[in-house]
Amino acid sequence: MQKFIIHGSRGSFPTSGDDSVKYGGNTICFEILTNEFQIFIDAGTGFQNAHIREDKTKLILISHFHHDHIQGLLSNSGVFQTNNNFLLCSALTDAINASQSVNNYFGPPYFPPDVTSHLKNLEWWNFSDIIDFVKPKLHINFINLDHPGGAVGYSVENQKFKVSILLDNEFSTAQIPCHRNHPKVICKLSQVFLYSTSSVGGKCFYQNSENA
Ligand SMILES: [Zn+2]
Repeated sequence: MQKFIIHGSRGSFPTSGDDSVKYGGNTICFEILTNEFQIFIDAGTGFQNAHIREDKTKLILISHFHHDHIQGLLSNSGVFQTNNNFLLCSALTDAINASQSVNNYFGPPYFPPDVTSHLKNLEWWNFSDIIDFVKPKLHINFINLDHPGGAVGYSVENQKFKVSILLDNEFSTAQIPCHRNHPKVICKLSQVFLYSTSSVGGKCFYQNSENA
């Protein structure tokens, strides 16, 4: 891995002001830069600050379609350079559903012009095809998280590193402890999904007592 960059980690809305200087005020966007790929996990408003690399294959993996995870997709001028191809996908659904969700968000009446459906350099793929495409350079995996409407976490791994990004998981009664002190999802995450992880990104990872 060349770089792991957190462009934004806030939920719901971008926040300006002195209070957000330390950790930044933008919504979700993580970047993983490898020799071959520039990979973004979500495209919240933090995406606007990413330097789009013309020399890399660019992937955008969407965890789910809540607005704070996609609202910055058109905020980066690199998206409007037609020679910049982006491969987008979400393990939460197939390419058709994913593109429709984003096109609806960036189309009337929510957004003035119908933009994303005309940007032919934004290519929506099925997640399984992305997995095949990045082999043997990278191994990308996902895990279902508990969140209204669903969400997925991703891990990106090669022989030198493993980065796991887990966003918006909320504990529920379905997550009965499988060991005395470990909720089921955490058992699965720590034993399987996070095994040998070198970097973990997370946001809104609530415990039961914090769910109001
Ligand atoms: Zn969400």
